Amino acid sequence: MYDEPVIKLKDIRMNYGTEDVLKGINLEIKPAQIIGYIGPNGAGKTTTIKILLGMINNYKGEIEIFGEKITPDQIDYKKKIGYVPEGGDIYENLTGWEYLEFIGEIYEVPSAELKLRSETLADCFGMTLAFNDRISSYSKGMKQKILIISALLNNPEIIILDEPLTGLDANSVMIFKNILIKLAKEGKTIFYSSHLMDVVEKITDRIIIIANGEILADGTFNELKQKSKEGTLEKIFNDLTGFHEQEQIADRVIAALRD
Ligand code: ADP
Repeated sequence: MYDEPVIKLKDIRMNYGTEDVLKGINLEIKPAQIIGYIGPNGAGKTTTIKILLGMINNYKGEIEIFGEKITPDQIDYKKKIGYVPEGGDIYENLTGWEYLEFIGEIYEVPSAELKLRSETLADCFGMTLAFNDRISSYSKGMKQKILIISALLNNPEIIILDEPLTGLDANSVMIFKNILIKLAKEGKTIFYSSHLMDVVEKITDRIIIIANGEILADGTFNELKQKSKEGTLEKIFNDLTGFHEQEQIADRVIAALRD
């Protein structure tokens, strides 16, 4: 099995106008792991992902994927990546089957494999019948399922997830968590970005906490726990990012409802 870092980010910096959104991100990610990339909204998670995927090019720093430096004109490395965007845009006029065929062709998945994988994954997520309908008729959770299925179709080595559970029903969340754990055991590298901590705490091998474009903590859940004296990931997170007003804000809401 490949044992070198699959992803290397070296001093990645990005600004939109005057705002520094990433202030020097350094990361080395080994294969066969689920990495939790967590931080509050606006921390720079999606920007990091877009840079990794070549969707943003005007950053500073260096990226290596499977030991190769990435430049803006490279596209081949993307065939090894599956990406579930946060509430991504889908071609809503297509049916589910048409969409999977379209994505499979982009990733050059051979047609026999594409058919088998699409049918099996559709069945596993309870989408076989719905895939005859146009995506415009789907609920939020159904759209999320098709994004998940299409990200897996090319059996990617690296799976990048940006808030992948949005709108999913409880059973699908459980199925998806199990899929991720099993894929990591098979050697795949999973980069799981979220501001929701409960899932990250349960399934990740390593947690990276980012806020204001900087990495504040990096380690296993147990390592972070020891450093912080706090019990849950949520408490560690609040401790590091300095957010302590949750109880006060909840009290204000309750008081306002009483008035
Ligand atoms: P996260 O995914 O952690 O919520 P983002 O990476 O989406 O954070 O955003 C980080 C910061 O960059 C935020 O302050 C956001 O407002 C800003 N930002 C993101 N995209 C753009 C853009 N296209 N133009 C200007 N500012 C942006």
